[in-house]
Amino acid sequence: MLMEYNTVQEWMERHESRPETKEERLQRFWSAKWNLYWSAVDKMAEGKKHQYRGFGVGAATLAFRPDKHIWGGQAKIFTGFNSKEKPNSQKHCAEKRIFESATASGYVQLVGLVVVGPYQPDDFSHHECSTLHPCKQCRDMMRNHPLAWPEMPILTALPPPEGILESLLPRWEPICELHMLKEILEIHERVTNCP
Ligand SMILES: [Zn+2]
Repeated sequence: MLMEYNTVQEWMERHESRPETKEERLQRFWSAKWNLYWSAVDKMAEGKKHQYRGFGVGAATLAFRPDKHIWGGQAKIFTGFNSKEKPNSQKHCAEKRIFESATASGYVQLVGLVVVGPYQPDDFSHHECSTLHPCKQCRDMMRNHPLAWPEMPILTALPPPEGILESLLPRWEPICELHMLKEILEIHERVTNCP
């Protein structure tokens, strides 16, 4: 049915009153994923300064709340960095920061997540892949978190090589892996349960 709108304002209001569908949200995430990647790269640099080994991790997400209309959609970018000031101090992961700030701002779902950091095998499962996956603590947090969902896409990617020429960046793509949250959980559980 062709809807009639008298003013732009009316068109905006009617569209704003409808929550975006899951497909629309995901589409927004796919379109934003490289922007999210570069936001996470910036945060990784911040993490480096707050981690005693200089091991920086950055994360970025598109978070959704149906009652709030932000220009172009009902989603907002949140970013986070990791920190662990001393070997014996509490670590605070980039992913955890993101979940905390999206929750505190009233968002109801993380549409998708991008995590950027130098590669190291998983501390807990020792699973070897090509990118840095969310750690055991973050996986446990996400497993039951109300803002996470089993099919949530998680893009894990390596940072750009140090000293890469700016002129090469437009044609350069990071090494990355894409999983659903439930796949990440399964991969690390499977390895751990191996005899
Ligand atoms: Zn973590």
